[in-house]
Amino acid sequence: MTPTTTWLKQPLGIFTGDDADASAGLVIRGAEVVEVVPRGSEPTHPVDEVFDASRHVVIPGLINTHHHFYQTLTRAWTPVVSAELFPWLKGLYGVWAGLTPRDLELATTAALAELLLSGCTTAADHHYLFPDGLEQGIDVQVDVVRRLGMRATLTRGSMSLGEDDGGLPPQTTVQDAETILADSERLIGAYHERGDGAFVQIGLAPCSPFSVTTEVMRETAQLAERLDVRLHTHLAETLDEEDFCRERFALRTVDYLESVGWLSDRSWLAHGIHFDDAEIARLGAAGTAVAHCATSNMRLASGIARAVELEEAGAPVGLGVDGSASNDGSNLIQEVRQALYLQRLRYGAASVTPERALGWATAGSARALGRSDLGVLAPGKQADLAMFTLDDLRFSGSHDPVAALLLCGAERADRVMVGGRWRVVDGAIEGLDLEQLIAHHSEAASDLLARHG
Ligand code: ZN
Repeated sequence: MTPTTTWLKQPLGIFTGDDADASAGLVIRGAEVVEVVPRGSEPTHPVDEVFDASRHVVIPGLINTHHHFYQTLTRAWTPVVSAELFPWLKGLYGVWAGLTPRDLELATTAALAELLLSGCTTAADHHYLFPDGLEQGIDVQVDVVRRLGMRATLTRGSMSLGEDDGGLPPQTTVQDAETILADSERLIGAYHERGDGAFVQIGLAPCSPFSVTTEVMRETAQLAERLDVRLHTHLAETLDEEDFCRERFALRTVDYLESVGWLSDRSWLAHGIHFDDAEIARLGAAGTAVAHCATSNMRLASGIARAVELEEAGAPVGLGVDGSASNDGSNLIQEVRQALYLQRLRYGAASVTPERALGWATAGSARALGRSDLGVLAPGKQADLAMFTLDDLRFSGSHDPVAALLLCGAERADRVMVGGRWRVVDGAIEGLDLEQLIAHHSEAASDLLARHG
């Protein structure tokens, strides 16, 4: 069967992520973009269909580089609403230990649905909880991703350093190194797709220096190298973590990272806030990426990441909404707005343009996930895109359509395409009963808390 060729004609506005003039739209053939059409021109490719995009602002599908989907069940939980990271974690670990496969399925669906409706087409998840009965957690998530037709980098997280050994998490939530590494290898073999257009990829993601042993950090890096998958962890989120590393390892966080074989372009780090100038230079030279999570960093009062300096040093910068217990939403277009404003506080308005912030959430995030086929709307790239209308009251009177998405606060895409297939049409996800999802998900959230007592 010949793939359909569609011209998204004359968009109201377009941000492609590179310098090409695409004022007259894009041509999509099958799963890929095959042409950008400059102002006043018509496609050179013969087209089967024309989609009139004159009401739409088109951007590359947004890419989320850090999340904990399961946390959608513990949003705005009263005891930790105003806590900072370590007490926040300690308050929540016990609740999370009761997670069931059904909970994780609903939480993953809710997080991905919220992301998708906000214009996200690819999402990374960092799942590190495998209590008894939830050993197949990542398998559950793979099913949900496939059902929704999105792309995901699902990371097999881990915690191995419990309270008994000087770590932060309770002993009931940790696993031993052998179990972690064997399951990591199993998941890569079962699900990791390689090459352009991959929908499901597996990464390896020890939770943080304060929740896994040095042995697990080092052996995970070796396994990732051998099987050629990506590495992810939390690093330099708070000064508490910095103190932990100094006390336990007598090293600063980046020194510790290097000592366990992680300072490379295979790694992307969540948060990356508390780096000094020399550390930024080292991360940049190594090509280690950072997932900037602006809302979470403000919510937990963790600090302001040095995103512009990291990027200029050569470290790819992507965006992440982070887990829904520290945001507490999963809306990626709103996250771009938050990053724009937070980074302006550090670097000034002129340095942090809407295009720069959108670039973090698209091309920057793609680099963080090691995806050269995503993040830019250009010939040969995957046809992953989000389209927003400016019909709401909030946009009335706006002039620059791309800037308006961020400055006026766009929150919901009208259409989203993943690999040439429409996944959101008229603001609704194809094949998903959203009301039913909300009912089941909120019930599961109540039950989880009730079991905690
Ligand atoms: Zn996180």
